[in-house]
Amino acid sequence: MGLLITDSTLRDAHQSLIATRMRTRDMLPIAEMLDKVGFFALDVWGGATFDVCLRFLNEDPWLRLRDLKEKVKNTRLQMVLRGQNLVGYRHYSDDVVREFICLAVKNGVDVFSIYDALNDMRNVKLAIEVAKDQGAFAQGAICYTTSPVHTVEKFAEMARTLQSFGCDSICIKDLAGLISPWTASELVKAIKKRVSIPVALHSHCSSGMAHMGYHAGVLAGVDILDTAFSAFGGGASLPPTEGVVAAFRDTPFDTGLDLDLLYEIGEYFVALSRKYGPLFTTELIHPSVDVLTHQIPGGMFSNLVNQLREQNILDRLGEVMEEIPRVRADLGYPPLAAPVSQLVVTQAVLNVLSAKRYKRVTEELKNYFLGYYGRPPSDVNEEVKKFVVGDRKPIEARPAELIASEWELTRYAGQKLGVLRDEEDFVTYALFPQLAVRFLRGELEEEAMPDILEAADSSASPLESPVELSVDVDGEVFNVKVSPPLGKALEVEQTRVAKKISRGAIVSPLRGMVLRIEVEVGEKVKKGGVIAVIEALKMENKVSATHTGVVREIFMREGQRVGAGDVLGVVD
Ligand code: MN
Repeated sequence: MGLLITDSTLRDAHQSLIATRMRTRDMLPIAEMLDKVGFFALDVWGGATFDVCLRFLNEDPWLRLRDLKEKVKNTRLQMVLRGQNLVGYRHYSDDVVREFICLAVKNGVDVFSIYDALNDMRNVKLAIEVAKDQGAFAQGAICYTTSPVHTVEKFAEMARTLQSFGCDSICIKDLAGLISPWTASELVKAIKKRVSIPVALHSHCSSGMAHMGYHAGVLAGVDILDTAFSAFGGGASLPPTEGVVAAFRDTPFDTGLDLDLLYEIGEYFVALSRKYGPLFTTELIHPSVDVLTHQIPGGMFSNLVNQLREQNILDRLGEVMEEIPRVRADLGYPPLAAPVSQLVVTQAVLNVLSAKRYKRVTEELKNYFLGYYGRPPSDVNEEVKKFVVGDRKPIEARPAELIASEWELTRYAGQKLGVLRDEEDFVTYALFPQLAVRFLRGELEEEAMPDILEAADSSASPLESPVELSVDVDGEVFNVKVSPPLGKALEVEQTRVAKKISRGAIVSPLRGMVLRIEVEVGEKVKKGGVIAVIEALKMENKVSATHTGVVREIFMREGQRVGAGDVLGVVD
């Protein structure tokens, strides 16, 4: 049998290159043609799809899946599933995992590519079993990374475990594009020795080695390769579908796919890439060996750039990139796969922004040290752990074991809201409660596409460029960027600064959304007591009282977007 190809243009490619911004309306016109090719599967859903659809595109992710299913009648639809994290950023209870997978199958998913960011096999077992129960194809994915503790033998053992769970195939998921051709070959051979199921190789061109890795992998026995059409391939994305198919033509590995048809489809994506042109960043189009050090996957990188831009701190990108490997080492060398990648990157950002490393930490980081994500690949930095969680002992159990059933509670809370229409809405609500409600109430808008002309015009006069100011508030220095129009912005900033200086002001540390307000007006709070939780950089950030006192005013409401430095309330 020839080589099989899973095309990921509609999922991983745009997740890696343009922060998952491809719209469903741009996918549907080419779906029937894609179905004609004879791919093993079309990877179209999961990963960041779900979150981005709601947060930025004002799209129902379930509808995308159903619409694609209607057009793709012959080819399997694949999704990437973060094990017990599903498509979210935390562990969900077992019953939510079951509901999600059953509904995904019902709506059209045929293949689940299931991984755990820490490669903790306990976190993927249930998802694999449920997928199998539902008659779906379960691919067990191993997150590839390099570190002093990761070896070919260890990875190969994981493959054996995944087969024992009932997996139909194994995927070497080289999400950041780190695997060398030599290692690809060694790893494939080692896995093939231990399992009898097909082996897939999934690599990104980030470092420039993926094409060679694919060739070496195939010679060593790989059965399935993941690719993306060339207009959305290469760089931070996957090797190009057309090129890979051409490379193995007239060899024992011939895919049998029609190159002319691929070329025709490729033209559609070339045109589409022009439409999304302004969203492509140079750093992601061109490979860089730097990724071998920082290990940030493409999808994460485009996200990071967006998040830093949103926080107005894009100029600190270099420092953040240098801090990431240090945080990763402190955490016991996790592969930088979602949701742990977000946790590591956000902590690196906070470490760069704070005077002292780990002075400000997210709730997620505490949970990581307490074992609520699973077992880190190796020992964590004990000093950092103690600083973050004190003497608390990490849990030994599988994390979801300790999560009480969430589904009935979700149903109960969801019903009271009166906006959830069907089972799919309930699952969306279980995963992203705040976003789901705002989405269903029609409060979210589709993010505007940047104008090509606007993006090309970088010749703004110096007067219109942002002005940076340092503002000292009670001994803490805030960097304030003033954007044009200058006069108006300065006025606003001055009011903000004036508000900040006012005694007892509780200030938002980052730009984000108010998740929860934990106090009421008139309530007494102690220094360090939690006032509110802000979701920023996709993580939960507690805002604490800087001194003991009484809450006099609250200027925010749950679900509201706040800027860095905004006064959220007053405690005096
Ligand atoms: Mn990938």
